[in-house]
Amino acid sequence: MSLNNILRLPQSLALRLTLWYAAIFALSSAAVFVFLYLLISTTITQRTDQDLHEDLDEFAAFLSEDGIERVKTEMALDTKQAEAETTFLRLWSRDGRQLAATDLSSWSGMGALPVTLLREVRDGEPLTETLHLAQREHGVRRVVGAIGPDVLLEIGQSLEADEELIATILHGFLLMLAAVFLFGGPIGWFMARRALGAIGKVTRTADEISRGALDRRVPVGSQGDELDLLAVTFNTMLNRIQALIIGMREMTDNLAHDLRSPLGRIRTAAEMTLTSPERKAERGSLAINVIEECDRLLEIINTTLDIAEAESGAAKLNLAEIDLVELVLDACDLFQTVAEDNRISVTTDLPKQCHILADRQRLQRVVANLLDNALKYTTAGGTVAISLLENSSKVKLAIADSGVGISADEQSRIFERFYRCDRSRAQGGNGLGLSLALAIARAHGGDISVTSILGQGSTFVLELSSPLPVPSTQIADASQPA
Ligand code: ADP
Repeated sequence: MSLNNILRLPQSLALRLTLWYAAIFALSSAAVFVFLYLLISTTITQRTDQDLHEDLDEFAAFLSEDGIERVKTEMALDTKQAEAETTFLRLWSRDGRQLAATDLSSWSGMGALPVTLLREVRDGEPLTETLHLAQREHGVRRVVGAIGPDVLLEIGQSLEADEELIATILHGFLLMLAAVFLFGGPIGWFMARRALGAIGKVTRTADEISRGALDRRVPVGSQGDELDLLAVTFNTMLNRIQALIIGMREMTDNLAHDLRSPLGRIRTAAEMTLTSPERKAERGSLAINVIEECDRLLEIINTTLDIAEAESGAAKLNLAEIDLVELVLDACDLFQTVAEDNRISVTTDLPKQCHILADRQRLQRVVANLLDNALKYTTAGGTVAISLLENSSKVKLAIADSGVGISADEQSRIFERFYRCDRSRAQGGNGLGLSLALAIARAHGGDISVTSILGQGSTFVLELSSPLPVPSTQIADASQPA
């Protein structure tokens, strides 16, 4: 790790995550351990108590069946088996007389039972307690219970085995807790670094891009997890930004190129008219030329702005219910003279009406542009066929011409700004019409596609989203305009 990285460590998200991770890990482990420890130690004490109570019941049975002598014999037997250092038994009468006792040599701290205590013990309710004698290292569990009328049995049992077992468990738990503390940190660090590694890659890529390496992308892992998704999304965003930057660069290049020639022409003509006195008479026509060229330049600039607006989504569409059939027929009327002048027959195959939600003015520009192109790039005697197909989800307006056609290579480029096919250069135009039409169609959630065969003609299809249901009042009186 470099010195720089070490200095930045306190602000590092990885370090904070690690500490959080280790703390939460350790705390939750400690909580689990405490719970388990309490559960185990209580269970052990309960089992000891249960054994002692069962012993009391057993002695009560001996007393009732065979009398006190049997009890004494069993007491002696019991301590023989269980060793006198770990267990003692004493038999008491309620008035405090000790009736019998096992070997008490290891139990020097055990005094006589107070009479008050012996009187307190109820039948069936033995007294159970833990004693800590100064002479013994371990605690003593004692029960005192009535095993017959006026006969009480006291059983004391060393808790040495229980305490050792609990101590072993506690020891084990503490070791595990220490291990959790010890390994929690490195594991947390490892996991935090792994998780943040992908973010680091994104940061590094963004840094390189900000230094000018626009083509850099974040490496995408093979896990398909959220981090890979972040990388893919980030790369998609970068692709889009790069495409926009390239598009803007091309657009400014093309714009500069397209503006330079007419501006040059205007300037040369004006200069010549000014410098040569014999051309004074031409000043009037120069002014007209200047106005025409300026109009053309203004149209290029305005259309470029319209495309940018539609593409960026900034264009606020004036959406309203419109009849696409009516809009198409209006456009046909507008271009009727052009079609007639060029001896091109325009046919329509349209339903009575087709209501959609669209921006009327902008859609008029799209249809006018497609129709204008169809007529412009079709030679005399040709045909232009307009048809409209609709289903529940789509409306498709097709404008097919029998014109010059577009080669397969060029079909993918004609929607680019300022792109014009070589064969079309003889015709007027600026190569912006289709870009604008496509941008408007997309702003409507639609699209424009083209199919064409060079020399035979082209079909442009404008696709828009679902038609609106026709209001029933209109169905009755709807009639297709002539
Ligand atoms: P233009 O102002 O040049 O018509 P467009 O963006 O409308 O600009 O069209 C771009 C290019 O696509 C045109 O220059 C032409 O080469 C080609 N094009 C468009 N429509 C047709 C068509 N119907 N038939 C043949 N070529 C077409």
